[in-house]
Amino acid sequence: MSAQATLRGLAARAPALAAWLDAHAETLDTDAKLSGDVVPQLASAGLLRIGVPVELGGTGGMIGDAIDNVADVAEHSFAAAFVLWGQRTFIEYLLQSPNRSLRDRWLPALLCGEIAGATGLSNAMKYLSAIEPLQIRATEAPASAGRDGTRAWRINGGLPWITNLRKQGFVAAAAVDHEAGGPPSIFAIAHHAPGVTRSDDLDLIGLRGTNTAALQMLDTPLTDDDRITDNAPAWLVRVRPAFLGLQCGMSLGLARRSLAGTHDSGPGARAAVADDVAALTEQLDTLTTRLKNGVAQGDFVDTPASLFTLRIALAELVHDAATLEVQTGGGRGYLRGLSGVARRQREAAFVPIVTPSLVQLKNQLAAQRAQQLKLGTVS
Ligand SMILES: Cc1cc2nc3c(=O)[nH]c(=O)nc-3n(C[C@H](O)[C@H](O)[C@H](O)COP(=O)(O)OP(=O)(O)OC[C@H]3O[C@@H](n4cnc5c(N)ncnc54)[C@H](O)[C@@H]3O)c2cc1C
Repeated sequence: MSAQATLRGLAARAPALAAWLDAHAETLDTDAKLSGDVVPQLASAGLLRIGVPVELGGTGGMIGDAIDNVADVAEHSFAAAFVLWGQRTFIEYLLQSPNRSLRDRWLPALLCGEIAGATGLSNAMKYLSAIEPLQIRATEAPASAGRDGTRAWRINGGLPWITNLRKQGFVAAAAVDHEAGGPPSIFAIAHHAPGVTRSDDLDLIGLRGTNTAALQMLDTPLTDDDRITDNAPAWLVRVRPAFLGLQCGMSLGLARRSLAGTHDSGPGARAAVADDVAALTEQLDTLTTRLKNGVAQGDFVDTPASLFTLRIALAELVHDAATLEVQTGGGRGYLRGLSGVARRQREAAFVPIVTPSLVQLKNQLAAQRAQQLKLGTVS
């Protein structure tokens, strides 16, 4: 089977988008000049509405459909898939937020791509794993500052990494510690809120078309109306399977594309790696099924370790598949503009470091195992 034959998913469903991504995948990785076009392109193909209930403006389906969707885009452009991950994950936050008026305020503009959704929750995930403190603090404003008894705060702090901060307009999710104590909250912070500053794009080695920058808040006023949840730790545990599932979609697509790329080589090279490709393909199918079933059935809420194990296995598979593609691509892969092999190497290098990173997850699994050994629940 040729690489072309495996790319029928998005090409059949959204041919104009698939063609646009194929034409611009290299630019989206190496340059920021198309960064404003990605969200509108994804929106006009209807991709932002997948897995969103029809009554809320979506096209229905399950979270597994949204994961497939991210995977399909990642086969064509990992940068675009990362943008889709940010946008769709933010949409998921609103779907899972108890704050209905916040959802109603932002969802239509997010679904049609008028506003970009950014998820700055790496800091919160690392906080949950006791790796770093929260980097944004809220000071409660005097009661009079809130309308009709609504609580109000001023927030200060920043996030060093956040993707999909589209210059034309964005709303970002960030975890915030309360000076007065109590559980941290997660707020939706709009680009035009007072005191919000977006840095220039970060000087990345790849994924440069993803609007990745730092975000700073200085005395930014927020109220209960902007709050996604008032109990970040409890809420994150429930949302984490969708967050990670959509993120794993990027790995599924990239691994699929690299494995397909091995078929573009000559018969000798193909024969040399045939067994490896078959084994990785089978493993990929198994992991895909486990991921989608686990997310759909809610298994990973109570057993996050199995999701962490899946994320680690997928990251290793991406690495192995990208390496096989390099081996079979030969010198052609080392020449500029002749293939996507070098780009996929850069893309694959991102997979282990995005939060929760592989080292973080490995540490967490080791700590959990040590705890179980101590309690005698495993041998
Ligand atoms: C292109 C790009 C886009 C990004 N977009 C976003 C985004 O949209 N939203 C967002 O929130 N973040 C984003 N990030 C951040 C990313 O998800 C990671 O959080 C970040 O790259 C890791 O942070 P660091 O380099 O500061 O890690 P460091 O804190 O320097 O740590 C280095 C590594 O060690 C791990 N580590 C540190 N301490 C421990 C410990 N005690 N136990 C186990 N492991 C540990 C970390 O997880 C990390 O993998 C982005 C990063 C990049 C490169």
